[in-house]
Amino acid sequence: MIIVMKKGVSREQLLEVKQRIRELGYKPHVIHGETRNVIGAVGDERGKSVLQALESMSGVEAVVPILKPYKLASREISPTSSVIELAPGVAIGGQKLVVMAGPCSVESEEQLLETARAVKAAGATVLRGGAFKPRTSPYAFQGLEEEGLKLLDLARQATGLPIITEVVNPRDVELVARYADILQVGARNIQNFPLLKLLGQQEKPVLLKRGMATTIQEFLMSAEYILAEGNRKVILCERGIRTFETATRNTLDISAVPVLKEHTHLPVVIDPSHATGHASLVPAMCYAGVAAGCDGLLVEVHNNPETATCDGPQSLRPEDFAATMEKIRQFAAVAGRTV
Ligand code: PEP
Ligand code: MN
Repeated sequence: MIIVMKKGVSREQLLEVKQRIRELGYKPHVIHGETRNVIGAVGDERGKSVLQALESMSGVEAVVPILKPYKLASREISPTSSVIELAPGVAIGGQKLVVMAGPCSVESEEQLLETARAVKAAGATVLRGGAFKPRTSPYAFQGLEEEGLKLLDLARQATGLPIITEVVNPRDVELVARYADILQVGARNIQNFPLLKLLGQQEKPVLLKRGMATTIQEFLMSAEYILAEGNRKVILCERGIRTFETATRNTLDISAVPVLKEHTHLPVVIDPSHATGHASLVPAMCYAGVAAGCDGLLVEVHNNPETATCDGPQSLRPEDFAATMEKIRQFAAVAGRTV
């Protein structure tokens, strides 16, 4: 339910309503709007009609049901797009696009620092790199784990770029959160609900990747798991879905961008690397993402793709990334954005 507060209500009135929501067995989430505040009351859907009684409380304008199955993620509760701070001076969801770039996996100090310096010089604002890798084969490189996180920290110090890295196992959430600026949930973990709940209890922003066979509604329900625990900093990432087509690794669902923008206030990022699987196709999908209205891009870049332990064929060389960034700036300008 959405509890719409009257204009100019006092702090005490707001606290009283929040308290009453808790007494009724629901969780209040205050959303500060431009003209008035609303409180999302979320919890067991079955008994939600008890919340209607809040209408008689002072300061309450109306109690309105949220029609969508996802509540805190929906535009119904928050018509204004969310702007999420990723690190001091870096925010996503506003006018400025955020380009996150770097290798699929952290492999060595030399590989990471060289790539980090190159993506920074080209204008990326976040460094990506996997330390825990969710590989299809148990025999494939699984990542450097904490050693990889330490190298990411080193790269952050060397370049000033905040870092995004994946957490695969609920057991590692605390560890990864100690190093990362943004926690990534991979496509394969989209419905790992215990992991999502733990991430909902973290302060750090979470980038949630759409699963390869996840509908938009399921995607938003997974985001809801994180939001419902109290973490409002959720970024959605479209990274391609499974179709019958084999010319590309996945099929980039570009229409997911405007669809998501219609239904949610959360920022949307495009990952053209996992979507296509081929470096030659990545630039065009970056431009398509920007044209479709995405808030950011997550691009794999490697200083030497031929030797990459993971996803070399889809990784851009630094010079190709720099050229792509130049063109991204032009498409962004047409879309009314900056990079
Ligand atoms: C990744 O970003 O390196 C990754 C594993 O992506 P996905 O979860 O989308 O497959
Ligand atoms: Mn990868």
